[in-house]
Amino acid sequence: MFISLIANSCISFTGIYFISKIMNYDTKHEGVKNMLIGLLSGCLGIFLITQGVVVEEVIKIDFRFLVLILLGFYRLVSPLIIAATIIAAYRFSYGIDFQSIMACICLVLIVIGILISYKMVSLEKQLFRFSLTLNLFTCSIVGLSIYTSGTFSENAASAALLVVMISFPVGLLITVLNIDLYLINHRVKEYKISAETDHLTGLANRRAWEMQMKKIRERYDICNVLILDIDHFKQINDQYGHANGDEILKQFSELLHRETRDHDIKARIGGEEFGILIPMLSQSEVIGVAERIRNCISKHAFKLLDQQVIHISVSIGIANGKSTQLHEMVHLADDCLYHAKNQGRNRTHIHGGVEYVQ
Ligand code: GH3
Ligand code: MG
Ligand code: MG
Repeated sequence: MFISLIANSCISFTGIYFISKIMNYDTKHEGVKNMLIGLLSGCLGIFLITQGVVVEEVIKIDFRFLVLILLGFYRLVSPLIIAATIIAAYRFSYGIDFQSIMACICLVLIVIGILISYKMVSLEKQLFRFSLTLNLFTCSIVGLSIYTSGTFSENAASAALLVVMISFPVGLLITVLNIDLYLINHRVKEYKISAETDHLTGLANRRAWEMQMKKIRERYDICNVLILDIDHFKQINDQYGHANGDEILKQFSELLHRETRDHDIKARIGGEEFGILIPMLSQSEVIGVAERIRNCISKHAFKLLDQQVIHISVSIGIANGKSTQLHEMVHLADDCLYHAKNQGRNRTHIHGGVEYVQ
């Protein structure tokens, strides 16, 4: 019996490892992913029931609940409920008797306990303590339910003890492995964000800007490229110092963020040069956006580190296009920016369009 239980725990370990790989897979279709995880976990639960070990006529033990521990660790609600429902339905297909009712009560208690734990612990904190508590709680409920199902006989007690002794370390091993998977995944995401973010302003950096350009071209027909360059920024640095220059860059970025929509891509593509990708706006609409930004910048009271207020201005070059390649549009927008600077700064110039003076 001991060997069969060890074999069963190996099956659960392998199945759960496979499911946790799916959990850590990034996709935009979270709903489909959750449904798949719920179904696979339910199927694994059923498979584990079929592989259960018979202790005496009325007691059959298995590791179906280890799947629920994994779902609990990742704080998944819908997959947990789907998997528990599939497992309970399958268990009842054996017939409705005292044992199946006990098994169902045990399942419900585990699900309720796990759901309550979501409210108490966040996934970022105390991962090991959380998984230890999750395993202790689940194993105790299962042990008690086996003992009760076997009408408190000596055999039932030793079966319950055996299940707890094997499933507790296996469950802990599974969650420890998942702590590693989770942390690796979490760090990779953090490094990715860090590699694509400009650390001074929090906007996208040049690398992310170039990647986004490729994506946006595939997704949208009309696209606008805006290149913005702060006027006489060198003078600001010279007059007020580099630290104040940085402060202006930060406040400038906040204004860009405020004056554009979430799905417009804003990037710092050079020292005091910024780029905005705006999909799906007509030429006249994008001129409106650029002028709004330019006016907002010229009116804004920028605060230096000593609370002194200064005013700055920005020149903007725009390329609006339907079929043009995006890198060509960046060149066009750059040419327009050059034109706006030559014409006296603090103005917007659009490729093929009119020049807008303040
Ligand atoms: P123009 O109106 O022609 O754009 O003049 P400008 O002075 O803004 O242009 P220029 O390209 O000559 O100067 C840009 C300055 O931006 C020079 C550089 O010291 C400054 N700069 C670049 N990156 C940073 C930064 O990260 N922080 C600060 N404080 N200054 C920066
Ligand atoms: Mg400049
Ligand atoms: Mg410049």
